[in-house]
Formats: sequence, C-alpha cells, structure tokens
Amino acid sequence: MLHTQKTTEKIILIGMDGATFDIILPLVREGKLPSFARLLEEGTWGNTTAIPPDSPEMWTSIITGVKPEKHGIHDFGYQNDDKFIPFNISFIKPMPLWRILSNRNKKVGIFDWLFAWPPEKVNGFMVTLDERSMSPFPMAYPKNLTLCYPLLSFEYFLTLNKINFTKRGHFIDNINCTSEEYIKLVTSIEKYKEELFLNLFRKNPEVDFFAYVSYLPDDLQHLYYSYMEPYYFDVEKEEVKKYGNVIPEAYELLDNFLENFIDDENITLIIVSDHGFHRRDITAGPLLVKNFSDFGRYNHIVFRMNYLLNKTGFLSFDERGEEIDFSKTKAYFCNNLTFSGICITSRNEYERNYTIEEVVKILKNIKLENGERIFLNINTTNSSNGPNILFQLNPLLLKKETFKFEFKGKGSHAYDTPASIKYIVINTTLIRKILLFNTSFEIDELIDFSQLSGGHQINGIIIMKGKNIKKNFTIQNVYPIDIAPTILYLLKEKIPTYMDGKVLTEAIKEEYLSKNPILYTKEKYISPTLTPKISKEGEFKTIEERLKELGYLK
Ligand SMILES: [Zn+2]
Repeated sequence: MLHTQKTTEKIILIGMDGATFDIILPLVREGKLPSFARLLEEGTWGNTTAIPPDSPEMWTSIITGVKPEKHGIHDFGYQNDDKFIPFNISFIKPMPLWRILSNRNKKVGIFDWLFAWPPEKVNGFMVTLDERSMSPFPMAYPKNLTLCYPLLSFEYFLTLNKINFTKRGHFIDNINCTSEEYIKLVTSIEKYKEELFLNLFRKNPEVDFFAYVSYLPDDLQHLYYSYMEPYYFDVEKEEVKKYGNVIPEAYELLDNFLENFIDDENITLIIVSDHGFHRRDITAGPLLVKNFSDFGRYNHIVFRMNYLLNKTGFLSFDERGEEIDFSKTKAYFCNNLTFSGICITSRNEYERNYTIEEVVKILKNIKLENGERIFLNINTTNSSNGPNILFQLNPLLLKKETFKFEFKGKGSHAYDTPASIKYIVINTTLIRKILLFNTSFEIDELIDFSQLSGGHQINGIIIMKGKNIKKNFTIQNVYPIDIAPTILYLLKEKIPTYMDGKVLTEAIKEEYLSKNPILYTKEKYISPTLTPKISKEGEFKTIEERLKELGYLK
C-alpha cells in the first residue's frame, strides 16, 4: 500500500493485454478481485470494440488515437529474407501520447509499452523490457534513471534463456521450457515490472501521465484457458488441478497492483485491454485427441467444423475470418456445459429442417481417403435452442498415434513449433486427404494441430475512475482509438485533428464537460524530430547503433 503522499492531478493508464470481462466479472462476483470490484462500482466501465483484435494494431491505436490503416502497424515485425525484424519505436509513425505530451511540457512516465524500444527522449522517463533477447534488464530513458532491481532468482535467468524474445507478444511461439517454468517466468516478469513501476511512481509524484502495460493475461490465457473451463475441453483432472487457477491468479495479481492507485483523489485511473479473449473452440470444432504432449498448447487436435461449414456455404466469417458473422450463417459448431454439436440459426421450422438435412448429408459423406467416415452416430432434433445435430467422432481418430506431424525448428520434441499434421495413419494406410463428394481437402486444412485453447476476440475492456468520471456507469461504443483523445481532454490538452477517436464524453461528469470545452489543434501527423530515418537494409544496424548509443550493446 502507498502512503498517502501529495500528488499532482494525473492520469494512470494501465494496459492489460487480452483482459476480458468474461473472466473478470465472475471473479468479482466470487469476491476474488476487490480492486476491480471497487473500480466497477466507483467508476465507468464497458466493453471496447477492438478491430482487428490483435496487440500490435490495438496498442498502437490506443497510444496514437488513429486507426491501424493509418498507423500502419499490422504485426510484431516483418520478414526480411530469413530474418524476422521486430518493429521498434521508430515504426510508430503518428505521435504517441508520450511525444505529444512531452512537446507540451507535460511530464510522462511510460512503462513497457509495446514497440516502445529503445526508449526515446521524453519529458520524464521511459522504461521498456521489450527485446529481452538483447537485454534481460529494462532499458530506460534517461539512462541514469535509478531503477531498483528486485532480486531475481537464478532460475528466472535460466528460464529466460529458453525463450526467444525477438517476437514480443509471441512468447508462446518460442517456448522451450516446461509449463511450470513458463508460468513462473511470466508471473515473475509481471511482479518484477510492477515493483519497478511502483518505485518510479512513488519517486515521481510530479508526472502528469503514467502508462503501464501488463502482458500477463494474454501470455497465460492462450495456453491455460482449457484448464479454467475444463468442461468445454477434453483435459485431465490432474491437469485441471495443476493449471485451473493459473488465469484467475493472474487477475488477482493485477488486482493487487491496482490497489495502489484507487484511493488517491488526484488520480484518474484508466484500465484498457487491447482485445478480449474467448475459448478457442468457439470458432474451432470438436476435439479429437487429448493430451498430445505434457505442455498445454498441444493438448488438442481439432476438427475445423466451422471451416467446413464455411466451405460448404452454411457459415460466414467476418472479414478477418476469425469471428462468425451470424447474420449470414445458417449452421455453426456450438457447445456448452452439456453438449457439443451443430446449431442451426433459423427460427423458421421448415428452414431449420431443410438445413439440418443438408448438413447431415455432409457429415455422412465426409470421409478419409480410405473411405472411412469421420462422423458416426449422427442424431438430429428440431429444437429451437441447443444443438440440432449431434454426432460422434470415429474412434479411429481418437488415438494420438494416428497423427503424424511434420516439425519445423531445430529440436525434435513437441515443444518445437510443428508445421502441421503431415498425414494420418490408420491400420498402416497412409492418409493425406479428406474427401467430400467430389471435393478433396488436405488433412491439415480440416484438422488443426497447434490449437491454443484461448484466442483473441473483439470485446476488450475499459474501466475509468477519477473525480471527473461518472460513478457506477456503464459505457458503450468505445473503440481503442478513443483512449488517446479522452486522455488529452482529461489533461485539458488540445486534441490533434488527425486523431480518429472521439472523447468519451459519456463517461465524464457534466460539471467537467461544461467547464472544459473540447479543443482541437491542427498538428502534424508525423513527428519529424524524433522519428529516426531508417532504410530497409539499415534497420538492424540503426537499432543496434541506437542501442549502442544508449549503452545497452557493446
Ligand atoms: Zn495473444
């Protein structure tokens, strides 16, 4: 807990990668997240709509107030021949809040924002842990910033060595450690960051705008969702015991952290996530094999039922191909506590019956190359809620020996990222294709192997609390681009006209709104002074040079 020391009015923006109310609200009801509970009661909150629901686009939109098509960040980096070049601070083209505010003599304290490395000159400080492959220690501006390093264990560094951090946000693609090591690592990184941040927060009461990002929810939700909601997945009881609390405990850790900022009247706290999260089976399909390896991520092989329904014209995805567009969908794979099957959307009985018949035809005729059926015991009901078509998977497909994988990467064990399912073997027959009438599919087109149990979704979170923020109010129609203009407005700063977002006036008290008109300024979209000019080939060198300048590389 903080001693109540006199602070100036300030905004603290806390980013939580992948945080979702789908997990927060049940935990709040159970009394496990007292800080979140207070914030919901004493503040304004609601879902955000994150399109696309991915970190590079959304964190950049949040801090710049512009849409992805305008800021141009669409991945964690780009491929240059055989090298993956991660994006860095120079790729953020529009002015991030820290630059706008620094230019206007506001003091900022920025902590581990995505791509904000190497740290740049700001009016205040900037700390980043990004690019840990280059330095396991935080990099900071100013260089002589006093950082008190919490004591890190030897194991921490050992584990750190097993993860390739060059692709920030893609921890899970580069793991060479056990589940236990991974959980311990990402959790200790979070604790370490929080301690560093609190230290700087306490030492710099004059800062007007703090920003901090935790990547913990995303790092854990991708891998351990199935253990938190085991009834939707085919996971072992033993593992549920071991990993079932991993995600709730991560939120409890963040809840503890939030406690530090709740009581100070001078703090306006804004919590946002870049995107939401959901069980990945929502867009996937029936599970084929459990416990493929002892690491969470490879626990299931999934028949991509929704993909098949899409290919056969019964289901439409959104533009990104990730969410079901229900307005155009007739049938989709659905499951809950008690069933899994195919649901028909039509409310009209005749239409429903017709669609059921058509889909059953597909299920009966989708076969392996050797003529073996994939789905057996197909049953139908005409109920208007629940699954209309139930089926069983051919038990031949429920053995893990059936699937042969092609691995890429150096090692040979299952932690390496496998390319795909190469073929399946049933009674010594090698099968590479799945047939449906005259159409043939490659095995890996319909059967997905590297299945994470949690995936991104477009509903993220926003929670705001402060003396100018409405109490116990829920807000709608919030987009990540709205955060930056809202922060500027709350700091009584003019908003650059190029920003795409709007001030979230609904969340703000009438009193403040009437006293403070929203003011705009025509400002340059790109900051010429701080964005280094980098040629395509020279990119790596330039970054290395900058790191050298800052004293991180020798
Ligand atoms: Zn993610």
